[in-house]
Amino acid sequence: MATPPFGVAVESADKSQQSFERIDPETPLVDVMGGAARWQRKVHEHGFVALVDAMPRLVPQGKTADFAIVQAARVSYGQGTKHINEDRGLVRYLLRHRHTTPFEMVEFKFHMAMPIFIARQWIRHRTANVNEYSARYSIVPDRFYRPSLESVRQQSSSNRQGGEGVVEADTAEKFLALLEKAESNYREYLELSEKGVARELARVALPVSVYTEWYWKCDLHNLLHFLSLRMDAHAQEEIRVYASAMFDLIREIVPVTCEAFADYQLKSMRLTRLEIEAVRSGLPLGTDNKRELAEWEAKRAQLGL
Ligand SMILES: Cc1cc2nc3c(=O)[nH]c(=O)nc-3n(C[C@H](O)[C@H](O)[C@H](O)COP(=O)(O)OP(=O)(O)OC[C@H]3O[C@@H](n4cnc5c(N)ncnc54)[C@H](O)[C@@H]3O)c2cc1C
Repeated sequence: MATPPFGVAVESADKSQQSFERIDPETPLVDVMGGAARWQRKVHEHGFVALVDAMPRLVPQGKTADFAIVQAARVSYGQGTKHINEDRGLVRYLLRHRHTTPFEMVEFKFHMAMPIFIARQWIRHRTANVNEYSARYSIVPDRFYRPSLESVRQQSSSNRQGGEGVVEADTAEKFLALLEKAESNYREYLELSEKGVARELARVALPVSVYTEWYWKCDLHNLLHFLSLRMDAHAQEEIRVYASAMFDLIREIVPVTCEAFADYQLKSMRLTRLEIEAVRSGLPLGTDNKRELAEWEAKRAQLGL
């Protein structure tokens, strides 16, 4: 074969490089999503979370995608994993001891729609691959997030970043009326876009309650990190529902990892040196920091102390 002008051979001269061996699986392979195009859950009135793909998508019959974690761990630890001869035990050991790279061998691709104020929190998670709807290119659909009248939260007195309880009914009504006013910009947004205002500018008039959507791909290790932060009680309720939906979707595919994640991260607690001292000595926590004392009280209650 002639070498093209750029000096790159388009066909290898070494014929042995052109063939490969095709090896059939020892056990028949099955689709972890059961042949579905997507698994989807509705979130709020207009949002959704859909799992559209997974890696591995095909697993040996009788196994779950957890098998890819075990497979990777066994290549890295080799003989060292001989004593942990059971797959479930190995996955749990790896997660407990934060041996994280085997969990990066599993990936999930989601398609989701969420309000922009939630997308702003979400996009802070830098380890995912994201492809978002372009409001420069297309008109933004007419979808806005609105809480129900009964769920307009009151500003928390203890957590400056949070809400707790609900406001009185007339205040909630006024807030919903304000949201409606913000949404009413949409009509003029459409009109002015039609009159020639560039979409990239016209969108500036829309409130952050408007929905966007994206494809979001992440490996399991980083997805668990995302879930541990966004399923936590300190995360905003509107993002927590998305995170919980994602957890429910992947639980079907990596059940062993999800169980270990719940046991060792989601439902576990970390004790500080001062807290360990307090448990050992039975004395109060050795600090006068109000926030630390309050956190210790919450942990004591959880521990039933
Ligand atoms: C309850 C809550 C409140 C928050 N409040 C605020 C706020 O008020 N203001 C605000 O700005 N943000 C806020 N955040 C966002 C927060 O600070 C993090 O940006 C966000 O949670 C993403 O976390 P991460 O960086 O660990 O995750 P990812 O970006 O997913 O990264 C995962 C891990 O990868 C590593 N990593 C990724 N990129 C880098 C890098 N460039 N350099 C070094 N290590 C990297 C880190 O170990 C990181 O933990 C809040 C988050 C939560 C959950």
